[in-house]
Amino acid sequence: MIPEVERHILLNPGPATTTDSVKRSLVVADICPREKEFADLVTSIRKDLPKVVSADSKHTAVLFSGSGTAATEACLSSVISPQQSVLIINNGSYCERMSKICDVHKIKHIDFKIEWGCPINLEALEKFIIEHRSAISHMACVHHETSTGILNPLDKLAQLASKYNLQLIVDAMSSYAGLPIDYNQEKIDYLISSANKCLQGMAGISFVICRYDSLKQIKDLPPKSFYLGLWNNFLFQENTKQFQFTPPVQVMYSLRKALDEFFAETQEIRTERYFSCYNTLVEGIQSLGLKFFVEKQFHSKILTTFVAPEHPNFNFEKLHDFLLESNITIYPGKLLDKKTFRIANIGDITPKDIEFFLSRMKIFFKREQLLPNS
Ligand SMILES: *Cc1c(COP(=O)(O)O)cnc(C)c1O
Repeated sequence: MIPEVERHILLNPGPATTTDSVKRSLVVADICPREKEFADLVTSIRKDLPKVVSADSKHTAVLFSGSGTAATEACLSSVISPQQSVLIINNGSYCERMSKICDVHKIKHIDFKIEWGCPINLEALEKFIIEHRSAISHMACVHHETSTGILNPLDKLAQLASKYNLQLIVDAMSSYAGLPIDYNQEKIDYLISSANKCLQGMAGISFVICRYDSLKQIKDLPPKSFYLGLWNNFLFQENTKQFQFTPPVQVMYSLRKALDEFFAETQEIRTERYFSCYNTLVEGIQSLGLKFFVEKQFHSKILTTFVAPEHPNFNFEKLHDFLLESNITIYPGKLLDKKTFRIANIGDITPKDIEFFLSRMKIFFKREQLLPNS
């Protein structure tokens, strides 16, 4: 009934390659999302999303129709009162996005700026927090900065937030379900992610996992957004088991499937699989003479930024098109001043796929005479 579809290897940083079973789970009988069957689906997903980060009944997940940024905007625009302000740790494009969201909503923020791709100097950060302590109430950070592939030290950042009594907002978009996160141990207040990255589902749903005690504190804040109000959406989902507005119905079924497959694979094995893809990747790509943009010890092992060869023969578009002929998709860097490209190793892929990618890279580099000493 459902036609076979070609398998594509997506090495862009999400949406990621999905399993055939997740793709097939999109095909369901038409259903009105106000029916009990769908309400049960919503409830089961809201219950299971926190489990991925070992959160429990003290936490709740609020779902949003939309890509990851919808949940980020919902969270930031909902949890910081007009009297409060947020410290944003800014070392990449997704941190920058949080600043821009705050600007749009006129939320007071103070940015701790670090050069993109560079690790956070924790001592300097602590000094900065002390200096601004009386002005800030929240701290926002990106766990895995997908624009460069640097992994920020969530445990250390959470310790600082806790020490200075700041509520912690974490964009864990591209680490959730890929790397182990312990919500309780890290004392996170709000964790944001979406269905289509390491969870290996389809794009269209994003969510905020909230510490219930923190969430309750915002109930009287005037909403800044009608559609994306965190409290209103929470209340509606809690009371009716439905979305307030029309959800992407089929995407929800595929999210259920993706969650089932995550729990069947387990976090441990998924992380191991991603890391072995990363190991295969860096070993192979270094033999092509390419250099890392981020120092190796800070790699997320989920996405790696490579500095493009200086060689006049190198043309990213040409490489992209060549790989696409073999059903492999890669993505350019996000840096303005330096030519880079990024390879993500998330989704339903194995080291075999990475080996295939490397073999195609080698052919291209040979053909274009880009290999070292050629
Ligand atoms: C993907 C991603 C987002 C959200 O991007 P969308 O295009 O809205 O899905 C936000 N933060 C990080 C770190 C991401 O990797």
